[in-house]
Amino acid sequence: MSNDNKSIHDFDFSLICEYYASIERQGPGSPEATRKALGFVDHLTEDSKIADLGCGTGGQTMELARNTPGKITGIDLFPEFIDLFNGQARKLNLQHRVRGEVGSMDSLSFGANELDLIWSEGAIYNIGFERGLNEWRNFLKPGGFIAVTEISWFTQERPDEITAFWKDAYAETDTIPNKMAVMQKAGYIPVASFILPEYCWTENFYKPQVQAQELFLSKHKGNHTAEELVANQRHEAELYNRFKDWYGYVFYIGKKI
Ligand code: SAH
Repeated sequence: MSNDNKSIHDFDFSLICEYYASIERQGPGSPEATRKALGFVDHLTEDSKIADLGCGTGGQTMELARNTPGKITGIDLFPEFIDLFNGQARKLNLQHRVRGEVGSMDSLSFGANELDLIWSEGAIYNIGFERGLNEWRNFLKPGGFIAVTEISWFTQERPDEITAFWKDAYAETDTIPNKMAVMQKAGYIPVASFILPEYCWTENFYKPQVQAQELFLSKHKGNHTAEELVANQRHEAELYNRFKDWYGYVFYIGKKI
């Protein structure tokens, strides 16, 4: 029994990590959406400092690096993701200006007014949209930008089943105007918001998981936690297919004033 010293929690974590490390993206998105959001950000130079919070294995960070000057620090809680991230940076010969570090988005060690740009795709929900926008603002220079993606409702009303699912999964799920109001209240100019196209979920996020799930299940045959993890992911994908007219990911871009 090699897992004797591990708590159930650690074991869950390593399973979750193994599952997500096997796919290129850990959340919905696309290189085109990353570049589009970047189009709203100006004044970046070789001296700019950028942070990608909850960077995962770095899919979007490398796209960011290909399209911006400046130095990028990727922060993620999982060391395994950061190892893959740094391997990827080396492979693309970006290691001199892109570095991954293990850390938590709720206890960052950047200085006040240090950063020109904060990026976070599919990850701010871990700290909460409002709290993230408020706390991270301190690290941005005046005139600096923030760009995050966040699950949002597209309409004022929607079927109860999907409302209940997302309210339970993430209490801050809200409409786009309400999210923009939160951004403004936190001290940013709400520069832009746009809805990520459907393929960011279907082609780029859920489809690669189909094969990964088969491999994962055959490797962990009989493991209840692994089976539950896959069942949850499949349920989420099925809900997306049924209810995608009512919700999705939205990029929010703000400028600190
Ligand atoms: N930005 C990546 C990953 C999104 S998944 C992408 O779009 O593909 C969310 C990421 O947040 C995961 O990699 C997870 O490990 C990370 N994460 C969760 N809680 C965190 C925390 N407190 N601090 C930093 N990263 C965290």
